[in-house]
Amino acid sequence: MTWVTGADGSAYGVTNLPYGVFVHGEREPRIGVRVGDFVLDLAGAEAAGLVLAAGALGRPTLNAFMALGRPQWTAVRQRLTELLTDPAHRAAVEPLLVPLGEVRLLLPFEVADYVDFYSSEHHAANVGQIFRPGQPPLLPNWRHLPIGYHGRAGTVVVSGTPVTRPCGQRPGPEGPTYGPSARLDIEAEVGFVVGVPSPLGSRVSVDDFADHVFGVVLVNDWSARDIQAWEYQPLGPFLGKSFATSVSAWVTPLDALADAFRPGPEQDPPVADYLRDVPHLGLDLRLQVEWNGERVSEPPFATMYWTPAQQLAHLTVNGASLRTGDLYASGTVSGPERGQVGSFLELTWGGAEPVKLDGGTRTFLEDGDTVTITATAPGPDGTTVALGEVTGTILPAR
Ligand code: MN
Repeated sequence: MTWVTGADGSAYGVTNLPYGVFVHGEREPRIGVRVGDFVLDLAGAEAAGLVLAAGALGRPTLNAFMALGRPQWTAVRQRLTELLTDPAHRAAVEPLLVPLGEVRLLLPFEVADYVDFYSSEHHAANVGQIFRPGQPPLLPNWRHLPIGYHGRAGTVVVSGTPVTRPCGQRPGPEGPTYGPSARLDIEAEVGFVVGVPSPLGSRVSVDDFADHVFGVVLVNDWSARDIQAWEYQPLGPFLGKSFATSVSAWVTPLDALADAFRPGPEQDPPVADYLRDVPHLGLDLRLQVEWNGERVSEPPFATMYWTPAQQLAHLTVNGASLRTGDLYASGTVSGPERGQVGSFLELTWGGAEPVKLDGGTRTFLEDGDTVTITATAPGPDGTTVALGEVTGTILPAR
């Protein structure tokens, strides 16, 4: 129970407490934690001696705090829980609460490297059937390693940032033409944010996932399918993806998702030793995709074939180092049903089966369209934990 008005029973109660960076009035950007419909000013709380984090909370990004490591993350979370539940602290803490409606949320961390995986079997199989009809839906390597690529960290933007329709080379019957993408799409994904770095030349084992990963964001990996289809062979995604990737403004700490870990799907054939995680745990996150305010899909993250611990182990198995602020995303989350897919490529089966929305029929995104991805997870004692939404609106090509 918290003394914060309206927070009990909400999906942003004291069992959640996601971190973000906000601006309020004329004051400098600062770190806050969300509780109910308020943001607790953590820079103010640390300055007042209410919480101790080596000065890391007085920064304009989460990076310094994320670099402190799990013992400190847990200690700060316990202290925040104490401050927000014990009425004895109310007089000191309440002046540091800012109504959510009065703040502007910024990108919560400085993104170091950005990697995107491709770990949903249903998504990979759907894409295989759409692009390589008549052939096996999965390529031979897919069940042996988590497929991924390095994306563009500098174009990761916070939820709410408009997305300008990209231009590029699009394939056509008489060769490529240059112009605005006509097949602009989304990818509903879950991103994992690294706090604790690792040295070059070393590996991070599946067992060390929780020592390195600070928390979780929702991700929309905007994708221009026509640009992508023409450019991707033989080196993979490039300009069809790099124009913008949106993340939620709130980073949900792993500790808030302790009750959401579930055994992942059985893996056959058996995976390489460095990918063997015992227990093999995924996350029961239930995503929702809204297209211009209409719910069009509910992708179940629990169906992902590769777990976030396996992705991290694979990402570093060659000795690549981790940096604070590294972001790795899961890949499009798609379940087995059409109403569970995480891209419009799948929802409309390559554009062949348009969907009906109140505002008109759609295959891919039109200018002015807004897509919002939300998610919930089971919390302790039957409660629900909400992840911060990621939303964006398409602006016309320049
Ligand atoms: Mn993606």
